[in-house]
Amino acid sequence: MRFGILLTRLLTDDSLFALSASGKYHWPMDRDRHIKSVSFKTLGCKLNQSETDAIMAKFKEHAYDVQPFGEEVDLTIINTCTVTNDADSKSRATIRRAIRNSPGGRVVVTGCYAQVKPEDIQAIQGVDLILGNDEKYHIFDHLDKLKQRKLEEPLIIVNDEGDFASVSEDGFISATSRTRAFLKIQEGCDYYCSYCIIPFARGKARSRPFQETIDEARKLVDQGYREIVLTGINIGTYQAPDTMQNLTELLAALERLEGLDRVRVSSIEPNTVTDDLLHLMAESKVICHHLHIPLQSANDDQLSAMNRKYHLDDYTRLMARFRSILPDAALGTDVIVGFPGETEEHFERTMAFIQEQPFTYLHIFRYSPREGTVAAKLEDPVPFHEIKRRSAVLHEVGQKLKSAYAENFSGQVLNVLFDQFQNGMASGYTRNYLRVQVPVTDDISQSILPVTLNHSVRGNFQGSLATESVVEVR
Ligand code: SF4
Repeated sequence: MRFGILLTRLLTDDSLFALSASGKYHWPMDRDRHIKSVSFKTLGCKLNQSETDAIMAKFKEHAYDVQPFGEEVDLTIINTCTVTNDADSKSRATIRRAIRNSPGGRVVVTGCYAQVKPEDIQAIQGVDLILGNDEKYHIFDHLDKLKQRKLEEPLIIVNDEGDFASVSEDGFISATSRTRAFLKIQEGCDYYCSYCIIPFARGKARSRPFQETIDEARKLVDQGYREIVLTGINIGTYQAPDTMQNLTELLAALERLEGLDRVRVSSIEPNTVTDDLLHLMAESKVICHHLHIPLQSANDDQLSAMNRKYHLDDYTRLMARFRSILPDAALGTDVIVGFPGETEEHFERTMAFIQEQPFTYLHIFRYSPREGTVAAKLEDPVPFHEIKRRSAVLHEVGQKLKSAYAENFSGQVLNVLFDQFQNGMASGYTRNYLRVQVPVTDDISQSILPVTLNHSVRGNFQGSLATESVVEVR
C-alpha cells in the first residue's frame, strides 16, 4: 500500500492513475472518497486535548468510525504540541508512528507544532496535510482540497502569527467525560513570557462573545453535564468582544444558569485575579473553590528574566487576599526549576516561599530551552542533573502540601461529583478539588452525592457514601 502512496506522490496530476500494492489502479483521490475510519492522537495540554475532542465530535456527527490510535485507519489526525524541544521531537515520533500504522491512509498534522514549524513536518515523508491552529476546525474543507491538488508534497495551511481568526464556535466545545465539559472561552496570549512559545503558536489574545458563551454553557447543561471547566490560554484576560464584560461578569452569569451545578476556573495569571473574582467565588455555591495561579519563581530577577507581569510583592499580597477571602479553597501553582541563572539561593528562596504560602498542590516544570523564545538565548544554563535534583525536592514539598491540605477535611462530609466507575470503585472530585474514591455496587457516574471522607493517602481520599445531605460552599 505504501508503494501506492509513493507513486501517487510522484504524479503531478490527479487525473493520472496510481497503482496500489494489490496491483489495482485507483484514482488517487479515491482514498479520500473512502475515508471511513479515523483515529486521533493529542500531545500537550488539556486545552489541546479538549480541542481534539471537539474535532472528534464533529467526525462522529458525520458518522466516521473513530478507532483508537495505533489501529490501521483511513485517516489519522495528530494534534501536536511545541511547548519544549522535547515536545517537538515527541510530535515528530508520533507522526512517524501514525504513518507506519496506516500505510494506506491519510495523515493530517495540526496543533501548535504544526503552527510554529510546518517546515519540520513537511520534511516527514508520508504527511498529507498540515493545518495551523485556526484551521483545524475547518478540517472537512481542507480534506476536500486534498482531492483537488497534486500530491508531490503535503498541503500546508497555516495562518501567519497575528493573522489568527477571532475565536469561532467550532473550536469551543468539547467534553472529556459524561460529567465534565471543557468550555473554551478565550484563545491566544499577549504576555510573551520569555520561555513560552504559545503566543507564536496561538496568536494574540481574543475572547469568545458573551452571549455565545452563555448559550454554549446552556447547551452543555441541557446535555446533562454537571460541571463546566472554563478553558483558554490566558482566561483572566477574558473580555467579551461584543459586551466588553470580563471573566468575573461571565462567571456571575454562568452561576445564574439554571441546572448548572459547578463551574471551575482553570489556570489564571496572578495579575488578572481581582478581589471581585475572589468575592464572587467565596459567595458562590456553583463556582468551585479552586484556583491555579502560576508562580514560576519567588525571585524578582528571575521573574523579570521570564518577563512575568508581577513582582514577588504583588504575588505575596494576592496570596494574603486569597486566603482571607477563601480560607478553605484549593490553590495550585506552577513552578519552573532550572531557568537560566537560577542559583541554589534562588531555588531555596522559591522553596521557602512556597512553604509559607497557602498552596495545596504544585505543578513542577523542569526548564528546557525552547527554540524561538527569548529565554533560549539566555546564558548561564543550570546543569541537567541539578534541574532534576531541584525538581525532585520540590515534588516532595508538593506532596506534603497536598497531603496536609487533605488532612484538614478528614472526617467531613462533602459532595462529590462522580466521574469514574471501575472494579466496584467510583471516584470523583469535591468542589475544592479533593479526589475521592468510594466502594459502590452500581455505576454512580454523573451523580453528586455526599461522602464521608474517611482517610487520605497521599492527598487522595477513601470515603463512604453518607446518608446526610450537605449544603456546602466548598
Ligand atoms: S502567560 Fe506567559 S506562559 Fe502563559 S501562555 Fe502567555 S506567554 Fe505563555
